[in-house]
Amino acid sequence: MRRHIYRSLFSFLLLFSLLYTSIPIKAYAEEKIYRSVVTQTKQIALTFDDGPHPRLTHEILEILDKYNVKATFFMVGVNVVNYPQAAKEVLERGHEVGNHTYSHYHMRGLNEEALNDELGKCEDALEELCEYRPHLFRPPEGAVTEYVRHCSEGGDYTLVLWSLDTRDWEEKNTARIVQTVLENIQPGDIVLMHDYIGTESKTPEALEILLSKLLEKGYEPVTVSRLLGIC
Ligand SMILES: [Zn+2]
Repeated sequence: MRRHIYRSLFSFLLLFSLLYTSIPIKAYAEEKIYRSVVTQTKQIALTFDDGPHPRLTHEILEILDKYNVKATFFMVGVNVVNYPQAAKEVLERGHEVGNHTYSHYHMRGLNEEALNDELGKCEDALEELCEYRPHLFRPPEGAVTEYVRHCSEGGDYTLVLWSLDTRDWEEKNTARIVQTVLENIQPGDIVLMHDYIGTESKTPEALEILLSKLLEKGYEPVTVSRLLGIC
């Protein structure tokens, strides 16, 4: 009898864990949340979060131009308002811009109304200052809450996370940032970098080395929309 109870309990737990773990996978497929794509080519997408920054963004743009590469910048609305010239420069040089909210609050603390407000204020800043309307959204820290999922259901936004984190936001050793990318890069990857870091940034230095090595290995960095085939 006792054994029967344990067996039932085990079956229930197994079923529960299978159901529980299958839900996010199903949701990602249906709700257009992208971390990477499957591709026969060697295309990848470089993304830069949290800017624009009055100095770093420009330095990164210079390097991207040098290698004739286009990237995607997930901008924070308050930084667009503070540094509109830097935001305009990104667009004028032919790069893509996504919405990364207005204030960069963590998503777990926001209800649907507050999230819509955060998205709307960032959209307004980009429209008013740069005449640009974003169609990609990356939630701060990649946190996908129930309300974040809703953003992709209506078709307004495509949600973009990443498959390769360079950890440039914490790593102060340029060689290690480069090594992390070169050891892990796969065709179809979406690479996470930052053009606004509160402390000293090694991102431009690492990007310069990375681009020369990635191009040498035959990789083709493109914007996220191009990688996803939606532009
Ligand atoms: Zn961020």
